[in-house]
Amino acid sequence: MNRNHERLHRDEKDLRSLAMTELQNIYAGLGLTREELDLLSLPRRSFTVSFPVKMTSGRTQMYTGYRVQHNDARGPAKGGIRFHHELDEEHATELALLMALKCAVVNIPFGGAKGGVAVNPLELSRIDLENVTRGYIRAIADHIGPFKDIPAPDVYTDEQIMAWILDEYERIKREHVPAVVTGKPPELGGIAVRRYSTALGGVHVLEQALKERGMAGSGLRVAVQGFGNVGEHTARILHERGYRVVAVSDVNGGIQDPAGLDIPAVRKHRDAAGSVAGYAGARAITNAGLLAAECDVLIPAALSNQVDKSNAREVKATVVLEMANAPLTAEADEILFHRDVTVIPDILANAGGVVVSYFEWSQNLSNDTWPEDKVLARLALTMAAAYADVLALCSNGRCRMRQAAYELAVKRILQAERLRGNL
Ligand code: GLU
Repeated sequence: MNRNHERLHRDEKDLRSLAMTELQNIYAGLGLTREELDLLSLPRRSFTVSFPVKMTSGRTQMYTGYRVQHNDARGPAKGGIRFHHELDEEHATELALLMALKCAVVNIPFGGAKGGVAVNPLELSRIDLENVTRGYIRAIADHIGPFKDIPAPDVYTDEQIMAWILDEYERIKREHVPAVVTGKPPELGGIAVRRYSTALGGVHVLEQALKERGMAGSGLRVAVQGFGNVGEHTARILHERGYRVVAVSDVNGGIQDPAGLDIPAVRKHRDAAGSVAGYAGARAITNAGLLAAECDVLIPAALSNQVDKSNAREVKATVVLEMANAPLTAEADEILFHRDVTVIPDILANAGGVVVSYFEWSQNLSNDTWPEDKVLARLALTMAAAYADVLALCSNGRCRMRQAAYELAVKRILQAERLRGNL
């Protein structure tokens, strides 16, 4: 955790430059105008709120929350809410920009947003967590809504928190508004597949990229950083498909086994012990060690800025699947490209979550429930189409997938702005 936090601080500027560097590249490469670049660089709306929460201890504690709506030319703003004590406006803004690009890459009718509360939820009791969630929603209620901005889960937020968000919003509005938030429990209009849809979408694009590089699927060695919702399900799905998951980690440490970990058993151990660390029959590995582990595919599925210029040369993988948002800094991205590592960028790799959020939102608006096979089939189709659209923009020879994905997203957003008369 400390190392992650250190990185988050130290490389805050790098994060800005990754998204912005890429936008600058597109700007130069596509001959965009200065107005177009400005329009893409500045968030349309950004809210910082402070709100009091009466804690179970009896004290009143002030919390700071954020919500940034980066662009909504293609539809209502969409993006997660994270509870992380180092969240600030700048980070939320970058993550909101990534959401706008992500929704455009997979061609769903949403803009991009991100927000959350600067809090460490692991230190809160359940009732305090609920009250922080409700206080935050009361503070931003005027700015969200099914046709304005639709939150969803992100780092350290889950279905229960989405249920509290729904309930608080509906209390304020005094009517049912299920489409105001996605990632809800299925009993409240959510889609069960949403729990693992980010992971599944990532596996879909990974398998296409592996085919592209002529790497056979079964038996390939995979290392996964992070064992939260995204990391755990990605490891599980790959394990079920015959990949060898040789290392996994969480904030408390990691484990490795070159013969491949038994992921269901690791999960059982984590549920009992609170961490993957200490799992019997595997060797311990640090988070830094995991990023440099011997493997074919590296999957950073935790926080931002995990691979930077100091450790990018240690990466052994041939393919990096960015399941976290912005896990690589701009320098790391450059180094990996020159080392011929295929990097599947976050805005494509982890878009499966927001794609199924879109299905959930549509389902809620029409008061319908989709059968699971329809959800899975449309997710697969959407990811395949996005992958093909990105590859189609790669010039002959080696594909720099991040650049192609940004180009695709930027073109789509600018076209919407043009049609609206904003350009
Ligand atoms: N937090 C997720 C992301 O970063 C999902 C957002 C959503 O479903 O709206 O993509």
